[in-house]
Amino acid sequence: MKLIFERSHEGRGCSILPECDVPVVSVSSANKREQPLHLPQLSENDLSRHYTELMKHTHGVNDGFYPLGSCTMKYNPKVNEEIAALPGFTKIHPLQPSETAQGSLEVLHKAEEFLCEITGMDNMTFQPAAGAHGEYTGLLLIKAYHEARNDKKRNKIIVPDSAHGTNPASAAMAGFEIVNVTSSPDGCVDVEKLKEVVGDDTAGLMLTNPNTVGLFDKNILEITKIIHEAGGLCYYDGANLNAVMGIVRPGDMGFDVIHLNLHKTFSTPHGGGGPGSGPVGCKKILTPFLPTPVVVKENDKYRLDYDRPQTIGTVKHFYGNFLVVVKALSYILTLGKEGIPEAAQNAVLNCNYLMNKLKDVYNMAFDEGCMHEFVMTISNLKKDKDVSAMDIAKALLDNGIHPPTMYFPLIVEEALMVEPTETESKETLDEASDVFHKIYEEAIANPSALHEAPVSTSVRRLDEVNAARNPHLRYEF
Ligand SMILES: *Cc1c(COP(=O)(O)O)cnc(C)c1O
Repeated sequence: MKLIFERSHEGRGCSILPECDVPVVSVSSANKREQPLHLPQLSENDLSRHYTELMKHTHGVNDGFYPLGSCTMKYNPKVNEEIAALPGFTKIHPLQPSETAQGSLEVLHKAEEFLCEITGMDNMTFQPAAGAHGEYTGLLLIKAYHEARNDKKRNKIIVPDSAHGTNPASAAMAGFEIVNVTSSPDGCVDVEKLKEVVGDDTAGLMLTNPNTVGLFDKNILEITKIIHEAGGLCYYDGANLNAVMGIVRPGDMGFDVIHLNLHKTFSTPHGGGGPGSGPVGCKKILTPFLPTPVVVKENDKYRLDYDRPQTIGTVKHFYGNFLVVVKALSYILTLGKEGIPEAAQNAVLNCNYLMNKLKDVYNMAFDEGCMHEFVMTISNLKKDKDVSAMDIAKALLDNGIHPPTMYFPLIVEEALMVEPTETESKETLDEASDVFHKIYEEAIANPSALHEAPVSTSVRRLDEVNAARNPHLRYEF
């Protein structure tokens, strides 16, 4: 399809501005740009068609099944969008006096209260704009905590190999050394190995639970105890809280700090669909270090508190992506105290249902009951028929299904990681199972056909290495 600049025609446009009714102020020539801004010039009709065409080339949650593991691509209820579009939320300015924005501050305060209740934390900041940003913020809290106690030798963060890839990256960015702990054959943290690596240089542990193979670590209480006894703090990666929300609380498992992905678990759109939000919750011992400003409630009024001498500072302007918090709060209030655990139970049920339907032909990496996602390995097909996880993923595209996460986690060969979510019906899961079986039969009978997939999409197989190494992001005029 044509790029928007290729559709542009000199002089065309779609804005009709009213006559200026304020004094005209001219900009000094020193501040004027020398060249006019390169903007595409299109009629509203052309513009509308351009975006509709773009939309047809993508696959979103609104198009079909989207079992992208570790991403929680659940349906985003439209009522959330309606609430977040209310002018009381959209027509405010972050610098206006707190007395005139009481409702919005109440949203932040209530969201903090509910999410702390769900996670077992004492306080929360909404500043981080994404999960990885939340990890980085949480690690800075851990660092500030040890520094405030003059405990300066704690420079190591322990990260099990079943963690999400962002965990070690965030720890490195926060200036820590990373200590890797391998998993046991059952997919959980190897507790004996953990005991060997803790010491008086342990700043903390970062754990993704349920981990990236979809398992709830059965030794969770022992793990947090080992870290605390060594003087470290425990960080819970709660990006995918979908399997456990309303059922168990990381705070009760012994964790001191957590991040959530509102754009996964709490149903706000993500990817191309909108900005993210990675709030960080913590126990009281870390509260003094939270980023500023903090919303406080005094005498039934809300205000922003900037006066926090031990704060780590600001990690994003103002209060983060505020409207995302409005959408998440709308979701929490819609589901309520009964609906939140029910969503978690259905996510786990859907996942186990699909896993068990596929078990007859596909090999599961871990044969236990899964939480919100399961991982299968295509290594046998790869060996016998030269059909890879990539081939299966591409064949799924031809059948109207977004592929699962591929080649992740790294500890599983030829991995496909499937997360159906609670918002898919039994019929959708049955249809998906039929498609997976059909593809398997084709892999056995006619493997070379799968090397050709996808054949029905607007682009075929892409040169992914070249796209990543030499991205072409600018239009050359
Ligand atoms: C998605 C995810 C992250 C990273 O979140 P972003 O918003 O993409 O930065 C971290 N940990 C886990 C377990 C995740 O699934």
